[in-house]
Amino acid sequence: MFDDIIEGAVPAHLVLEEPEVVAFLDVYPVFDGHTLVVPRLHYGTLAETPPDLLAPLMAAGRRVAAAQREALGAQGNFFALNEVVSQSVPHVHLHVVPRRQGDGLRGFLWPRHSYADDAAASAVARALRGALASGESELTR
Ligand SMILES: [Zn+2]
Repeated sequence: MFDDIIEGAVPAHLVLEEPEVVAFLDVYPVFDGHTLVVPRLHYGTLAETPPDLLAPLMAAGRRVAAAQREALGAQGNFFALNEVVSQSVPHVHLHVVPRRQGDGLRGFLWPRHSYADDAAASAVARALRGALASGESELTR
């Protein structure tokens, strides 16, 4: 499924495209702007992912997190890498979730919702792309 997105066969709200990783909105976000950072090459789990891909993966996650703070007013971020159990897609992916004080996120209950419509998701993705492209926040560089 992620491979179809990476190849462009299935549409997604892309946030970041880099040589080794891509990032796009999770269709069932915990909070709006919840982004998945994914290696372009298929590896099922972190254990199967070559070590030299981990730095680009985390660096992209860090940049996306900065963009969530810059573009969406997030006060912080939650990073997660769910493996095998409850791993909905067997292609390693880093969740980057924007957080605010009192947002109600508890443990790993992960209440999820849908975007109101495609336009709402497009607007969020556009805001994140803009923040990443502008490089104005210190960690987007
Ligand atoms: Zn894959």
